[in-house]
Amino acid sequence: MFSVHGTGIGGGIVIGRARVLESCQRDVQRYRLREGETAIELTRLNTAIEVVKAELFGMAEQLPPDSPPEARALLEVHVMILDDPALAEAAREAIREHRWNAEWAYSAQANHMVAQFEDFEDPYLRERGRDVQQVADRVIRALSGTGVATRTASEPAIFFAEDISPADMLSLRAALGFGIDLGGATSHTAILARSMNVPAVVGLGHASELVVDDDWLILDGEAGLVIVAPDEGVLAQYRHRQAEAVLERERLGRLIHVPAVTLDGAAVQMLANIEHPDEAERALAAGAEGVGLFRTEFLFMNRRDLPGEDEQFEAYRKAVAAMQGRPVTIRTLDIGADKEVPALSGAPPLNPALGQRAIRYSLAEPEVFLEQLRAILRASAFGSARLLIPMLAHSHEVDQALRLVEQAKAQLRSRGDAFHEHLPVGGMIEVPAAAITAGLFVGKLDFVSIGTNDLIQYTLAIDRADHQVAPLYEPFHPAVLRLVGMTIRAARKAGKPVAVCGEMAGDWAATRLLLGMGLRQFSMHTASLLRVKQEVLRADAGRLAPRIARLLACDDPLRVRSMLARLVEHGA
Ligand code: PEP
Ligand code: MG
Repeated sequence: MFSVHGTGIGGGIVIGRARVLESCQRDVQRYRLREGETAIELTRLNTAIEVVKAELFGMAEQLPPDSPPEARALLEVHVMILDDPALAEAAREAIREHRWNAEWAYSAQANHMVAQFEDFEDPYLRERGRDVQQVADRVIRALSGTGVATRTASEPAIFFAEDISPADMLSLRAALGFGIDLGGATSHTAILARSMNVPAVVGLGHASELVVDDDWLILDGEAGLVIVAPDEGVLAQYRHRQAEAVLERERLGRLIHVPAVTLDGAAVQMLANIEHPDEAERALAAGAEGVGLFRTEFLFMNRRDLPGEDEQFEAYRKAVAAMQGRPVTIRTLDIGADKEVPALSGAPPLNPALGQRAIRYSLAEPEVFLEQLRAILRASAFGSARLLIPMLAHSHEVDQALRLVEQAKAQLRSRGDAFHEHLPVGGMIEVPAAAITAGLFVGKLDFVSIGTNDLIQYTLAIDRADHQVAPLYEPFHPAVLRLVGMTIRAARKAGKPVAVCGEMAGDWAATRLLLGMGLRQFSMHTASLLRVKQEVLRADAGRLAPRIARLLACDDPLRVRSMLARLVEHGA
C-alpha cells in the first residue's frame, strides 16, 4: 500500500480498479523519409487530422442534452487547435523541408507550441498548452491507427494518465474517477471533471507510472489523495466514510427549505458566494437566501480584453434575475495579488498584496470603475442588487467611491436608463485598519461585509497563497478574532447589517463562534450552506454570547479550537 498526493478537484471518494492510459507522446517514432516519400507522408498526416476532426465533431453531435455546457466549448477549442496553421502547416513544412516522418513532425511542432505557452505567467494560458498537447496525442494516435477511448469507454474504472484530454474524458463515459499526473485546478480537464461531478485528482506527479492496470485504488477527490493497493483496514475505513458521506448528503438535503433559526429563535441569513452568474441558480436550489458576494473580477480574468458595460450588465442582470428578488451583493473589481487581470496588468507591483489592488485600482482608473458601476446600477432595475466595495482602508476611499456612484447615476439618468435610486452600498472590512476603525466606515455605508480571508492575511502578515507559510495562516488567532468581533459590534451599534463572506463563514467549526459574536448573516460557497445551517439550527445564540466573550480572552488558537469543539459537543 502507498499513497500519492495531488490537487483535489472534488467529487467525493471513489473505490475501484485502475486503468492506466498510455500517453503516446512518450514514444513518438522519429525517422527520415526516403526520397519521394514526402507526398505519402503528407497524405498520412492530412488523413489523420481529418479523422480526428471527424471524431471531435462526432462527439459534439452525440453529447447528451444534459452534458455540461463546458463540454461542447472544449471540443470546439480542440477543433480550432487542429485547424491552427501554426501547428498543421508547420508540421507539413517539416515533412517537406526536413523529410521527417509525420508523427515526429507533428509532435515536434506541438512541443514547440507547448513550450511557448509555458512561458506565460497567466496560469490559464499556461494550461492552454496542455490542450495543444492533447490534440497532438489524438493526431499521433490516429497516425498509428490506435484509439484510447474505444477500448476502454464502457469500463467502470478509475482512469490514470499522464494527461487526459477533455475529449477523451467525455468518451470515458463509465469512469468512476480520474487521476492525472499533470495540471492544476484551472485546466480544462479539471473544469470538465468538476462539472461532470466525477471524483478527480490532478497534479499527481508520476502517479501514472506507479499505478498499474487493475490495482485497487481509493481516490479522494476532496483531499487530493490516491491510495494504491489499500489494505483491508484502510478499505473498510474509506467504505465507511463513503457511506457516511451519502447519508450526510441525504440528511442535509432535508434542510434546504428549513429556515435558519437558532434554538432560541435568532434568525440567521444564509447567503452564497458566487464567481459566475450561472452559479446563482445552483445557490438558490441549495437554499441560499441571496448572494452575499459576487466576485465580479472572474468576468475579467482569463481573457485579453475587458468586458464592456453591456457585457457586464448582462452578467449582473442574469444573477439578479436568477435570485428572484433575493439580495445579490455585487462586489466591484477586486483585482491584484493572486487575481491577475491580463488586460489591466501594467508594471508588476513591488508587493502585489500591498499594491494598487481592489478599490485602490478602481479609484485610480475611474473610467473602468464608472463603467462597472453603471452596469451594476442598470442590473439593480431587475431585482434586489447591492453594491460592495472591496479592501477599504481609508474612510476617504468610501467618500470617493460614493461620489463616483452618484456620477454613474447621473450618467444613466442623462441616458434615460433605469436603475434603483437607493441601491444599497456596502464595504468590505478586510484590512486591520478598517476593522479597528470600523465605526468610521459603518456610518457612511448601508452595510458591511467582513472578508476574513484577507483580514487574516493582513493581520498575521501571511501571504494567503504561499504554501510555505500556510501552517501559520490561523483563522483562530486571537488578533483575528478580536478584529472580527470589533467589526460586528461596531456595525450592530450603528444598526447596520453585517455579514462575513470570507471562508470562515463556511467553516462549520466557526459557526458558534460567529453566532456568539452576534453575526446573523453568513455568506459562503454553496456546497457549505447546509452544513453550516445545521450548526445554526443546533445552536443557542443567547447562551453562546457570554461564552464566546470569555473565549476571546484566550491567547492560544489551539485552545480556542478545543473550547469551540466542546461547545459543539455540549450543544450550546
Ligand atoms: C476575503 O478576503 O475574505 C474575501 C471574501 O474576498 P476574496 O477572498 O475574494 O479576497
Ligand atoms: Mg478579500
